[in-house]
Amino acid sequence: MNLKDTPEQEAFRGQVREWIDASVPAHLKGHRQGIVQGPGLGRDELAPLNSALSERGWQAPEMPVEFGGAGFDFTQSMIFREEWSRAGIPDRFAMGVEMVGPILLKYGSEAQQQRFLEPTLRGEIVWCQGYSEPGAGSDLANLALRADASEDGYILNGQKIWTSQAHRAHWIFVLARTDPKPAKKQEGISFLLVKLDTPGITIRPIVTIDGFDHFCEVFFENVPVPADQLVGEPHKGWTVAKALLGHERFSHPTADPNVMNRAIEAVKQTAKNTPNAGGTMWDDALLRRRVAALEMDAACLQSTRYRYLTKVERGESPGPETLIFKLFGAELMQRIVELQQEVAGPAGITWGSEPFGLETGEIAIHATNIRAATIRGGTAEVHRNVIAQRVLHLPR
Ligand SMILES: Cc1cc2nc3c(=O)[nH]c(=O)nc-3n(C[C@H](O)[C@H](O)[C@H](O)COP(=O)(O)OP(=O)(O)OC[C@H]3O[C@@H](n4cnc5c(N)ncnc54)[C@H](O)[C@@H]3O)c2cc1C
Repeated sequence: MNLKDTPEQEAFRGQVREWIDASVPAHLKGHRQGIVQGPGLGRDELAPLNSALSERGWQAPEMPVEFGGAGFDFTQSMIFREEWSRAGIPDRFAMGVEMVGPILLKYGSEAQQQRFLEPTLRGEIVWCQGYSEPGAGSDLANLALRADASEDGYILNGQKIWTSQAHRAHWIFVLARTDPKPAKKQEGISFLLVKLDTPGITIRPIVTIDGFDHFCEVFFENVPVPADQLVGEPHKGWTVAKALLGHERFSHPTADPNVMNRAIEAVKQTAKNTPNAGGTMWDDALLRRRVAALEMDAACLQSTRYRYLTKVERGESPGPETLIFKLFGAELMQRIVELQQEVAGPAGITWGSEPFGLETGEIAIHATNIRAATIRGGTAEVHRNVIAQRVLHLPR
């Protein structure tokens, strides 16, 4: 494992930093302080970022150049992401570039790639993910959204829930049941792309404890979906779904050590600004030791990511241990924010009006928001089960 950049990597990192300094609008920097999901930046707010990325050809780090991507190799893409989150730029890559993009490259038809990839990378099509249902979360294969075959495709009936940003998206990718009586529940599921303004779709936002409407319920009532919006083979959507979850778990923002480091800096700042016994909270040696322990955990996360990177560079498959990043990162982030809330005292439980930033009475928003980190993208308990079985090979 090499913890230092090679001269080429260092030069590439320098280029990325320079470009970020010069081209990313100032108001879009410093945003991502580990918040699980902010209220979501709209298309208009992200437009200057999208056009700057487009101009540079960097709108999708790993995507091949012929589809409008940057064509970075794995290491370059990690460096690009590190610099992106170090600068605190909002994550515009999520559902489109990180999830549906790679899936279309692997499983989509040529016509689907032509139709969706470029506009997705340019940020013109915003996607959301329709997996979870009231009766299907950890046990996703239990899903019941029905897609009955019609003359020219499918008719959807049923419901999705916890669909992040559905009210701000243009398209949704859903898992739907095309065979109501399969031999195994993982069979008979299909992966469909659905335009959100199709008649019969109702989107109802849900407001969470932090006061924002991050996600929605999405209802489908006799919604027609043309056959050319099926990705992969009919009834074989489970394979596509699992491939997509692999992308989701590694790209989760709380798996990113730069996000941790920004949050730890915010704890220090809070301690320095909070008066205590004639000085500030930062004078307390015990507190400084607790902060140092968090810093060590963030450094461990970083080193583990580098170990993973070395494995991928050697051509090995990363395997289920990537789940550790999301699990450890999400729990570490919760510990960081809990400490910040403790340090801030009464200021840690007041409610601010701004969605980002931690120094103006918004710690409470952050602390409530971060509870979701160990639920979304798979719960901590389920991650532990999988790690126990598939990484540690513990007996069931
Ligand atoms: C902020 C946020 C954003 C989300 N965004 C999306 C989205 O965009 N699209 C989407 O499809 N979904 C989304 N989700 C849903 C998310 O994927 C589910 O909440 C998650 O998979 C858990 O499912 P559930 O809520 O049905 O809980 P359940 O699966 O019902 O779990 C309830 C509890 O039981 C525990 N549990 C369940 N099974 C086991 C087991 N086998 N062993 C031990 N414990 C177990 C769980 O850990 C949990 O504590 C989002 C969720 C959140 C919080």
